[in-house]
Amino acid sequence: MANWKPKTNAVHGGTRRSQYQEVSEAIFLTQGFVYDSPEQAEERFIETGPDEFIYARYGNPTVRMFEERLALLEGTEDAFATASGMSAVNVTLMAAARPGMRIVAARALFGSCLYILEWLEKFGAEVVYVDGTSEAEWRAGVTPGTDLVFLETISNPTLEVIDLALVTRLARDAGALSVVDNTFSTPVGASAATQGADVVIYSSTKHIDGGGRGLGGIVLGNEDFIRGTFEPYAKHTGAALSPFNAWMHLKGLETLVLRVRAMADSATRIATALDGHAGLARLIYPGLTSHPQHAVATRQMDHGGTMLALDLAGGKDAAFALLNALHVPVISNNLGDAKSIVTHPATTTHQRLPDEQKQALGITPGLVRFSVGLEDADDLIEDLMGALAVI
Ligand SMILES: *Cc1c(COP(=O)(O)O)cnc(C)c1O
Repeated sequence: MANWKPKTNAVHGGTRRSQYQEVSEAIFLTQGFVYDSPEQAEERFIETGPDEFIYARYGNPTVRMFEERLALLEGTEDAFATASGMSAVNVTLMAAARPGMRIVAARALFGSCLYILEWLEKFGAEVVYVDGTSEAEWRAGVTPGTDLVFLETISNPTLEVIDLALVTRLARDAGALSVVDNTFSTPVGASAATQGADVVIYSSTKHIDGGGRGLGGIVLGNEDFIRGTFEPYAKHTGAALSPFNAWMHLKGLETLVLRVRAMADSATRIATALDGHAGLARLIYPGLTSHPQHAVATRQMDHGGTMLALDLAGGKDAAFALLNALHVPVISNNLGDAKSIVTHPATTTHQRLPDEQKQALGITPGLVRFSVGLEDADDLIEDLMGALAVI
């Protein structure tokens, strides 16, 4: 129900029960649906009602439950789930593409998002990159005639926070569609849609799954965009989420609010404990008052986030020594998992970027990304302090 609070919607929103009245949401692991008669099949192909399905590439009851539950949490009219976060970004940009379109994007983007924008440039799109934290650059970039504005609310891995209210207002004034990848912020707290984003994207592989089990993505927006622009392209090009993964992510939503708040509380405690440590050249956490966009972060998220970045004074050697000395977090490249995860972006997720681009984005050899999990914060702090003391 739209008037329920987020924690209630996260548990009950979008539930559809079969004739068996199951408690836990059913997995409709079916590609298609049968019809009572050819007349019914004909009717359904002319117009598919809200609780009718034709083919899993177009929609599936389990996938629909996931879409409706997250739309209620985000506060949008509608949603369409996709096979991964990247398919959500790709289909959104392809479905919105126009000959000679102008896109203004924040420079600090996930590598694969950058790849899609470069792909669009091959077909004549004009892509203008701006410093996401600079109001002046957004103002200069988002001129009338801009078709689309694309950004990630919190950048990876340096955790710059973009002012959603400001950028989405500039986009609206210019007549541009604002598309926001809100994966790092999560749908918990103030939603991106209520802060002005036209289209909101999540990689549900991250916090929504919360256990590193499988890929998923979702695109949320008004009915006009989802059904009029997104769905026609998505259903013909096969971006559909598997019903099994939709079920995992649907169940993930039940505990999302609790998990994200617990992770953010631990992240705050860790950041406070590490603040000023002699082994760190920089400690980046949007929840610390020293973060350049601290005010924006607290307004947008109601917490400081679940991610930290530590820049070790001793460079790559110190970063590797830290990763080798830690016992609790695992070395991997996912985020938002129950298990804390440490990543060395310069040699893994961002390895392919040329050195000068790494430098421009603040991806130094000493930078370590820390996705805070659900372990006891005291164990994480003790582990980090011990590892920093060793190196
Ligand atoms: C992980 C991630 C993606 C891609 O999601 P996949 O599910 O891995 O395809 C896109 N944007 C952001 C910000 C991400 O963290």
